[in-house]
Amino acid sequence: MAKAFVLTENHRLILRHLLREGKLSRKRLATLMHLTPAAITRLTADLIKHHYIVEKNILMKAKSVGRKEILLSLHDNLGYAMTMDWQIDEVIIAISSIQGKVLQKSALVIGNQPMMTFLGHLVQQVESMRVHLKISERKILGVGVSLGASFMHDAEELHDILQMLIPYPLLIERHALAFAEAHLLYTDGQAMEDLLLFSWSNSLSSTLVMGGKIYQGSHRQAGNIEHLPVGDQGRLCGCGRKDCLQTYLDFGVILEQIRQQFVLDNLPHLRAFLGDNPLTLTELHRYLFYIDKEATPMDPPLEALLRECAGYMARAFLVATRILDPQVILCYGTFFAHDLIYRLVVEQLLVLDPHYPVHHLQRSWLHYQRATVAGLALVVSRVLLEE
Ligand SMILES: [Zn+2]
Repeated sequence: MAKAFVLTENHRLILRHLLREGKLSRKRLATLMHLTPAAITRLTADLIKHHYIVEKNILMKAKSVGRKEILLSLHDNLGYAMTMDWQIDEVIIAISSIQGKVLQKSALVIGNQPMMTFLGHLVQQVESMRVHLKISERKILGVGVSLGASFMHDAEELHDILQMLIPYPLLIERHALAFAEAHLLYTDGQAMEDLLLFSWSNSLSSTLVMGGKIYQGSHRQAGNIEHLPVGDQGRLCGCGRKDCLQTYLDFGVILEQIRQQFVLDNLPHLRAFLGDNPLTLTELHRYLFYIDKEATPMDPPLEALLRECAGYMARAFLVATRILDPQVILCYGTFFAHDLIYRLVVEQLLVLDPHYPVHHLQRSWLHYQRATVAGLALVVSRVLLEE
């Protein structure tokens, strides 16, 4: 029997470059990897032979009319990943190609059913997607499961049960960490050496990338700016300290403050928008999207409250910038999906420090793929690209 082909570190590095850039010439690869053209020719020949990559003839335009250049790209059928993203009340499942294309996606509501029953449905659903897409089992490289921070204590049990139900390698990780991994894999050539990712959704979470690698520190707590002290109201945090960012920006806290104004009838615009619907987080987000789109006036107490929240956020970013000095802070999550919130945070940063380099604060360009790309990144980085 022929000896199985084993990827070396250089093979994997070529795959990594192609994943990020899409197409590259051998010459460009040689430059990027500081290897000789002969070495690159040998390495790419291995990868072509074993169907990891393909050659494409690209007709060059402009300067050299009619000249062809041979570019390399990943094989279209390199493999696929199943992904499961655990949210508060549902799980988003999908099958994506290694290159990042989502082939099919759906959501399963968790509801009140027993966990075993639900997991059974979940596995059935994702398997029927695979069959529908006519993808063979051996083309599934793995299943990437991303969890919100509040689910992480169940990670081990979930892993054990799911692994009994599915025949593929299973990777489970905190969403914020998996999402950071996705930025390292799929961002097109930006020099992303030091960055801080910050999510403001149902919960707050942050991940620090240093020297192009996710930094976990000794307690996996590094870069956790959700516990930076930002206020002086003496609010107790779950971590035992007082006035952490989390105690001011948790969605429950924000919603409760808005409710107080709402019952006092201080928010007539919001009341008109809601009609008979109750004031929930979903409705609040729907309203904020409406504000973004219509640029209609807001009730002043609501705007003041959101500005105050943005002020706390800005204070934490300012401290994080001073301590960690990231090239970029990438923000994402349901609150940062609103132009209004992002704008308020930038405004407040400039109030605190008129010289703050606001271009350092960016919204993640993977934001809209966050539910699928996190699990995909786990599979790609840990099954395909790691030894
Ligand atoms: Zn805390």
